[in-house]
Amino acid sequence: MRAVVYRGPFDVEVTEVPDATIEQPTDAVVRITTTNICGSDLHMYEGRTSVEEGTVFGHENMGVVEAVGGAVTRIKVGDRVSVPFNISCGTCRNCSQGWTSFCTSLNPTEGVDGAAYGYANMGPYPGGQAELLRVPFADVNLLELPPGSEHENDFTMLSDIFPTGWHGTVLARQQPGDDVVVFGAGPVGLMAAHSAMIRGAARVFVVDKEADRLALAGKIGATAIDFSAGDPVEQILDATDGRGTDCGVEAVGYQAHDPSGEEHPELVLDNLVKVVRTTGGIGVVGVYMPEDPGAATKDAQEGRIGFDYGTFFTKGQHMGTGQAPVKRYNRQLRDLIVAGRATPSFIVSHELSLDAAVDGYKHFDDRDHGWTKVLLRPGA
Ligand code: NAD
Ligand code: ZN
Ligand code: ZN
Repeated sequence: MRAVVYRGPFDVEVTEVPDATIEQPTDAVVRITTTNICGSDLHMYEGRTSVEEGTVFGHENMGVVEAVGGAVTRIKVGDRVSVPFNISCGTCRNCSQGWTSFCTSLNPTEGVDGAAYGYANMGPYPGGQAELLRVPFADVNLLELPPGSEHENDFTMLSDIFPTGWHGTVLARQQPGDDVVVFGAGPVGLMAAHSAMIRGAARVFVVDKEADRLALAGKIGATAIDFSAGDPVEQILDATDGRGTDCGVEAVGYQAHDPSGEEHPELVLDNLVKVVRTTGGIGVVGVYMPEDPGAATKDAQEGRIGFDYGTFFTKGQHMGTGQAPVKRYNRQLRDLIVAGRATPSFIVSHELSLDAAVDGYKHFDDRDHGWTKVLLRPGA
């Protein structure tokens, strides 16, 4: 089958790899209809992880079930499904509490709980930027979708970034009527903003400097804050009579930069601590790494990000972090889409064949104007 394979920093190739097959009786094989490129893929693409050469990328997958193992009972051949990026056993201490993003039994990497497709340190599971994908524990992991092709570009956000954005607002303990700030207008930040609106925010401020992404935030009724035009904290304090927001979501990660493009791993956490009111919540879904030799500061190379903890404590704020447990939200978010109450497809900018993935990676990594969210169609 054709697949997107990592060759080295800034180098992916679309090439032939062995077909995905049923390896365990609890597996399914899914024929991929849509698979997305994610900001998380860029950490690997840029050579900032220990991902192995030859890894098939792709953790944002959906498609139609092609085959099931003998022990699969709920999922049937022909079902249209969304595949959560977390691979969950369903029964370990964390999975049974709904923390499928921290499954203790499927990732052999020392010190890491949680497994995913096509990702560094997340276990030996090839990704779905390919024609076929092997899904372990199919009955646990797969979410059924209405048959046909309706809402394809909305449903494709259910495997990762819509639940991730939603999770950011849950970690921030957003309440109806809150003013919410989201740092980052990338796909994840825009999904957090969309989620915050659906969850009843009074106002949502979205901070970035990319004009095309800020325009999308404006399109869904959020207030765009351009951090290249002035201190984003001051702009938001001005707009809230000096109160700040009730809560905030971090959707940038440790590769945050200043207006000149220089990397400052602690910048967004510091801004959040300043702009969120006393006793307010901060949900961090942007990724921070325990190690990255290419990080901007010596501390950050060892995963130490020195944000203003003193102010955080003095303001009595709280913070939640980590990979999103997709399964906890994806059924409800699917039903919001079906009911017409959520339309996460508003961020889609490009729909490419799998063979065009090399170009897709390059433009998305360069944050080229208009390249907000890239979908790949292996069947096209
Ligand atoms: P992205 O890189 O396209 O978006 C990040 C955005 O942040 C960019 O638009 C960039 O201009 C902006 N930005 C940079 N510095 C900033 C600053 N100082 N202030 C405000 N905005 C700033 O990526 P994405 O796909 O939206 O992903 C965002 C983060 O979420 C990544 O770290 C990704 O790995 C992570 N992620 C986490 C999960 C999870 O489960 N927790 C899931 C998916 C993605
Ligand atoms: Zn993703
Ligand atoms: Zn588990």
